[in-house]
Amino acid sequence: MILILQDNVHAGTPAFGTIMEYLSRRPGIETRVHEVKGAQQTLTEIYLIGDTAALDAEELAELTGVDRVVRVSREYRVLGRHQDDFRPSGFEYNGVDFDQDGFEVFAGLCAVDTREHVDRTFAALAAQGLRCARMGAYKPRTSPYAFQGHGAACLPFVFESAGRHGIRVVAMEITHEKHIQEIHDALTAIGRPTGVMLQVGTRNTQNFELLKAIGRQQEFPVLFKRGFGITLEESLNAAEYLASEGNQRVVFCLRGVKTGLGDPHRNLVDFAHVPVVRRLTRMPVGIDPSHSVGRRDVGPDGIEDIHHAAVQGVIAGANLVLVDFHPAPAKALVDGPQALRLEELPLFVEDMQIAREAYLKRRAAHERARQADATSPVA
Ligand code: PEP
Ligand code: MN
Repeated sequence: MILILQDNVHAGTPAFGTIMEYLSRRPGIETRVHEVKGAQQTLTEIYLIGDTAALDAEELAELTGVDRVVRVSREYRVLGRHQDDFRPSGFEYNGVDFDQDGFEVFAGLCAVDTREHVDRTFAALAAQGLRCARMGAYKPRTSPYAFQGHGAACLPFVFESAGRHGIRVVAMEITHEKHIQEIHDALTAIGRPTGVMLQVGTRNTQNFELLKAIGRQQEFPVLFKRGFGITLEESLNAAEYLASEGNQRVVFCLRGVKTGLGDPHRNLVDFAHVPVVRRLTRMPVGIDPSHSVGRRDVGPDGIEDIHHAAVQGVIAGANLVLVDFHPAPAKALVDGPQALRLEELPLFVEDMQIAREAYLKRRAAHERARQADATSPVA
């Protein structure tokens, strides 16, 4: 059960004290307090854990300072969408809104290699009016002998270049909790010219200690990849680790699942789950067509499989597209075969806009049909 407090009630106010005192007298009930930072205001929510069946929701709703009571009907207490749950979805970060109504393209290098490639990539994104990007500094690789990323050494030039090109948010995978501090220090040292969304890669979806560490910090939002060999439910539970530790600013990103049945694609594209994640949770949902498809093959219609897969996710309501681009894919140190060329970026962005508009039209058509249904006389 969740108590959502009125906007002027938070830890330290008398009403908050009285509510906590009331709850402390209920046997078998534990409380966890979450501060939810929205664009306009910070709301306080009290999560009740334990024997909540014995609690009277109406009595709790009457307490001074309580705005609403939500009965948690499923797992994913914090990130889930529950019955009569009108809590807003999403968050604002560094001037960009991320929610289930928004849409952003995060294109860029799978792995940072040279300064020149980083700069050319950001310049190309800026020319398309994009304000988000992807850049990998810390790379989890299958082989210990493969390039592991430039790590902290590349952060100053990546962030400086992002800021110079007006990029507001860079998605960057981290593989160890110490990377959070390294990113914080690098941003601070050069005056925060951009923002970072910490990416949890598919190989770390169930690295619970890493998730807890990322969840404990409030500075950076998270782009959380679905695990490639586990169920959707297991991945959603893993995302909940972030929120249960205090960080609810999470985008859930589908990236295909590992099974030979996806061949010749690198993974089996799982974008039919876009509406499922939107229904079960309040998280904005991303798709990664590059790691799903894994190759630049072109269909008989002249359209690359990566474009086709991306469009399938966007037309189903995806809020974010994470996609590999490179100025010279043959020279990329990681995942060159799936990187699209920078010259293709305008077409990719146009293709995504076509799909996004088609999704919005579909939504409007379904809404019109519902309205007509509701107003038609009952036979
Ligand atoms: C990536 O986005 O660079 C990446 C490694 O993705 P995933 O964790 O989905 O394989
Ligand atoms: Mn990659």
